[in-house]
Amino acid sequence: MKWIADRNGLTSPELYMDAQKRNHTPDAAELWKYFEAVFAWVNEIFSNFRPKLMKGLAWGIFYNKHKDDALNPADLEEKIKWLILDKEVTNRRGIYEYLLDGEEKHLSLRTFDDDQKQEAYDRQAGICAGCGKHFEIKEMEGDHITAWSAGGKTTSENCQMLCKACNRRKGSR
Ligand SMILES: [Zn+2]
Repeated sequence: MKWIADRNGLTSPELYMDAQKRNHTPDAAELWKYFEAVFAWVNEIFSNFRPKLMKGLAWGIFYNKHKDDALNPADLEEKIKWLILDKEVTNRRGIYEYLLDGEEKHLSLRTFDDDQKQEAYDRQAGICAGCGKHFEIKEMEGDHITAWSAGGKTTSENCQMLCKACNRRKGSR
């Protein structure tokens, strides 16, 4: 119900029900048709059903946003296999949404632990790799020298410490 309300640009299921009453449409039939369309789409794009990863995701919302996207099922299946094995990905249930909109935040990629950050901090003698000024470690954040999307891992060798301002600047690039 939330999904179809979203499709119709309504913010809540209640608004959808109200609109249905006003229009005198037989809502069960429309709802059923919509669900069938959602499941047919999911089945076509992601034919290999992985219950642990797929159950309970907001498929209707994904459908509303991406049903007209040009997606290649074989290509997606290949990427899913890689992402499942990727130790940098800590939220596997975010794989599908990531493949649809390309936002890495869905994957909850690994971040540096305190030891890794301390090692990089000592290596840099407290100098920010961005602006070249000295900071206390608590004023700095760990940054991937090579980004995950370019094959970078969360290791101390791939860690550099940036001051918060430089890290924010890098993040928004
Ligand atoms: Zn800096």
